[in-house]
Amino acid sequence: MTDISGLLFFLRDPCLFIDRKKGRDTLTDMVKVFIIGAGDGGEAVLSRLLQFNWFEIVGVADLNPDAPAIHLARAANVPVFLEDPLCLLQKMSIDLVFDLTRNPVIGHQLIQISENNFDVATGEVAHVLWDMIRELEDREARIKQRLGENQVLLEVSMILSRSETPDEIFQAIVAGAMRITGMPAGSLSVYNKHNHELFLVATKGLSSDFYKNGAYPVRPGGLTEHILSNKDPILIPDLADFPAFDNPVILKEGIRSLIALPLISDKGPIGILYNDDFQPRRFQPTLTESLKMLSTQAVIAIQKQQAFEQIKDLSIRDPLTGLYNRRYLNKVLASEMGRAQRLNRALSLVLFDIDKFKRINDTYGHAMGDQVLQALAECFELIIRPYDVLSRFGGEEFLILMSETDEAKAISSAERLRTAAAALDLLPDGDRVTCSFGVCTLERIEKKTITPKEFIQCADHALYRAKNGGRNRVCIYEN
Ligand code: GH3
Ligand code: MG
Ligand code: MG
Repeated sequence: MTDISGLLFFLRDPCLFIDRKKGRDTLTDMVKVFIIGAGDGGEAVLSRLLQFNWFEIVGVADLNPDAPAIHLARAANVPVFLEDPLCLLQKMSIDLVFDLTRNPVIGHQLIQISENNFDVATGEVAHVLWDMIRELEDREARIKQRLGENQVLLEVSMILSRSETPDEIFQAIVAGAMRITGMPAGSLSVYNKHNHELFLVATKGLSSDFYKNGAYPVRPGGLTEHILSNKDPILIPDLADFPAFDNPVILKEGIRSLIALPLISDKGPIGILYNDDFQPRRFQPTLTESLKMLSTQAVIAIQKQQAFEQIKDLSIRDPLTGLYNRRYLNKVLASEMGRAQRLNRALSLVLFDIDKFKRINDTYGHAMGDQVLQALAECFELIIRPYDVLSRFGGEEFLILMSETDEAKAISSAERLRTAAAALDLLPDGDRVTCSFGVCTLERIEKKTITPKEFIQCADHALYRAKNGGRNRVCIYEN
């Protein structure tokens, strides 16, 4: 009978074990195994052994043709013996016999015939062996899981380095997280620290109703705030156990369990990567290691996208005031004029210029002049409507494009800007900064078709009249 320490050795390296027993130096390819007793124990041992290619099952024997392991052996093309196998064993070349009969007589006979030909493992030994094989299987499963996770991380890294569109990268990160966790849904949100909102940039497995407008606020005491204030992943096996996190959108979506990874850059939190399930779930603690690596990639992806947006923004914005630049305004103007003419909609331009700005520079210095430009830009931006396009059109000249705006509305907007500018306390000794405004609407112009350049020239005529009329006033274009 094989002793347990021998079996341990056997499991670690079955080939070496057999060689040691037979006193040979060369390595044997396969371990030849015979199973006697095809009941449940025999079936369990056979099913395990079949999974390993270092076992050659040379036979399964039982007097009962309906024994479970007999069926299994037939299905796996393993030779079946429905007779007393003891004489057979003496003729066959076998390394190891599993005796799963629990019959002491057979056990005794086996020991007698085994001599140096083969080893015998009984039911108890099979149990130990089985436990060890299960352990090996678990280990293999863990290695496979790790390999799968590494594969996901590698794929995401490749997409990230290929500099695909941000959308593609964000989708790949959510899909990667879902593959690692095996969860059916997920999302990635970017945090805007200025308005304390999160903006969804990728979702998978969630309905189109999930945060329909794409953004959600950080509620004090809510789940999002809890996640963002943490550095570590948050694992919630069942949301029903956390009544404080009764987020209506998450509940309506039917999400019951989640893993949330706060995405932290060196400047603080910049987003959250979620994995969701629609039923309660138990989480393996080892999961979070790979997810943490994935969240590092998500941080890089978000930073990359933000840098990209900043560069894109630079090309359409004026660096001093942050307003749109002339190039951008010209582009929008061309398309808005086309739309207004096609659909016969109102469209207005307000062109304005700081009065005697040269004097301000000469009196207080260029730096103060710059500050005045910035302060005015900030003030104008607060006053205009969200759909007005305000640009710095030249040195101390601004142009606002107002869609769906007739002459009366454009004049009143210009008046509001004029009074607001004059009311600002920007210079020493109560010295005031004023502006002159020229307003022109498309319908005012008699000529049937005009170019954007001609439209701006008309507004410039109106501005010229305002300057000539004494400055700090609003004038309209007259044909
Ligand atoms: P008017 O009322 O006729 O518009 O008089 P003005 O002095 O404003 O007009 P002018 O065109 O003679 O002068 C404009 C000045 O604006 C000259 C220029 O140096 C200054 N300027 C243009 N861009 C900037 C800028 O970015 N910063 C500063 N500080 N000054 C600027
Ligand atoms: Mg000026
Ligand atoms: Mg000027």
